[in-house]
Amino acid sequence: MGAKTQVSGARGSVEGARPESLLKDSVPFMSMCPRCTRVQLQDRFSRAALQVLLRDGQPVEAYCVMCHQFWPINSRERVELAKAVTDSEAVDESVPFTAICPKCFEEQPQRGYSGAALRGFLKGNRAIEAYCVRCDAFWDISPHERAAVTWALAR
Ligand SMILES: [Zn+2]
Ligand SMILES: [Zn+2]
Repeated sequence: MGAKTQVSGARGSVEGARPESLLKDSVPFMSMCPRCTRVQLQDRFSRAALQVLLRDGQPVEAYCVMCHQFWPINSRERVELAKAVTDSEAVDESVPFTAICPKCFEEQPQRGYSGAALRGFLKGNRAIEAYCVRCDAFWDISPHERAAVTWALAR
């Protein structure tokens, strides 16, 4: 009997390690509940799950423990989340650059893009979106700023 307890104990510790690795992979984010307007922490999505949902354009459902209600996060939250997912995936690869906000004319640091993503944008001649936390605005960076990004990547 003593041996059996030991075996289940060992198994227990193996299972105990599993949620830890899941937790490590989960990307927590905040979303405001449309009913009670409280900002609720969402931590039940793994990075892999979020990447699939964001890539496929599927709704990412947030949940409020107070109201027991689900709602899809909005497009701005999706963008923020996409950045968070990319960041945690390739922190070393993240290439920061600055872009001037067309609203407040302040230089805003942009650090949500990996080098690979930026190279893809530049190669495909696709717009690179910058974000200003002060104005809560998105805009496409200028040709001059694109050149600066190209230069930063070449280094
Ligand atoms: Zn709520
Ligand atoms: Zn601004």
